[in-house]
Amino acid sequence: MSKTLFDQALTAAKAYHAALPAVAEFQPWPDDITWADRAGNQIPGAALVQSDPGFAADGIPAVAEVHALQQAIMALAPYAEWRHTYTEEEVGHDFLQRYGWFELVGPTGHFHSLQTRMTIGYWGPDLTYPWHQHAPEELYAILSGSADFMAKGDEDRRLVPGDTRMHGANQPHAMITHEHPILCFVFWRGEGLADDPAMSAD
Ligand code: ZN
Repeated sequence: MSKTLFDQALTAAKAYHAALPAVAEFQPWPDDITWADRAGNQIPGAALVQSDPGFAADGIPAVAEVHALQQAIMALAPYAEWRHTYTEEEVGHDFLQRYGWFELVGPTGHFHSLQTRMTIGYWGPDLTYPWHQHAPEELYAILSGSADFMAKGDEDRRLVPGDTRMHGANQPHAMITHEHPILCFVFWRGEGLADDPAMSAD
């Protein structure tokens, strides 16, 4: 049942990791992965991963592993332990209805590892993800849809499926979706893997 779907997503994630040089260079595939048997948690945004995944943005991406992982994540969405990091005071009610993330691999993930944190994040159209930061270094990799990414000290850039973007330790960053949603695979490395991001001070 759902364990099979998680195994298929992990296999797709590993193939994806090997296929994208920027991802493989960010960190080696962990060698301490074990199944953690965590219960699912559904939130409003989770259903949108299947009903509005963002295909319209750029069609099927050129790299087959990106499409395969996106399909595996869609299949997994009803069983994943979806979370909200933020409060309504921080991001507003609408944001919380159309956003969510879950940890595929990591200290509190469906698959346990202390070497990495690999999360899947989804944001619906026309959302502003305010400036935030965290101690671990981060690599965003786009599975479907598109968004404008901003980071202090770096050029703004619109990312589409197959693109990646790195954020440094405690580098404030933000994101805006427009007419399309976005589905991202996010990798963390370094200290503080189990911590939540914090809103930036200014
Ligand atoms: Zn981040």
